[in-house]
Amino acid sequence: MEIVVLRLGHRPQRDKRVTTHIGLVARALGASGMLLTAEDKTVERSISGVTKRWGGDFFVQTGVKWREAVARWKREGGKVCHLTMYGENILDVIEEIRECATSNRILVIVGAEKVPPEVYEVADWNVAVGNQPHSEIAALALFLDYLYQGKELRARFKHAELEIVPKRAGKEVKRVRREQ
Ligand code: SAM
Repeated sequence: MEIVVLRLGHRPQRDKRVTTHIGLVARALGASGMLLTAEDKTVERSISGVTKRWGGDFFVQTGVKWREAVARWKREGGKVCHLTMYGENILDVIEEIRECATSNRILVIVGAEKVPPEVYEVADWNVAVGNQPHSEIAALALFLDYLYQGKELRARFKHAELEIVPKRAGKEVKRVRREQ
């Protein structure tokens, strides 16, 4: 599966922390990258720093023009899934999305402030993670977890410098020799 997250409406003054967390959740729970509709190198640097230490190939692209990005995505055969509390309940559509994701790339759109009405139109699915307002970080985490059915939680990341040794008590982090 190839899943990319598009973060819409990021306001560099207000949303740094939330957008960074969206990127971290996307990376940790199985997405390949994040597109950001603002130029914010702080967010990009902080997620790339995590990827360098903890592995994987997660990419962050900033300054993305969302209409162009979505149009290109669809032209190239990708599907678009917009997370919104106004959408269809995730429990009713996740199987269809999972099936579709076996042969199509999926762009998952999450908003910050009000999302432009066009997004609802362009999306192949408007998906509600429950029809109550909550958080884009939680919505994305639950969406990815339902999509991958929990398997993403066992993922190991390539080229990691650091890896955690899971323990019932205490902490252990081992340094891994980088693959050439
Ligand atoms: N009032 C905004 C709107 O018109 O969409 C919602 C802002 S909300 C704080 C930010 C983002 O969180 C939304 O754009 C959506 O992606 C996500 N979100 C919040 N609650 C959600 C839910 N129940 N299901 C899916 N996504 C949700």
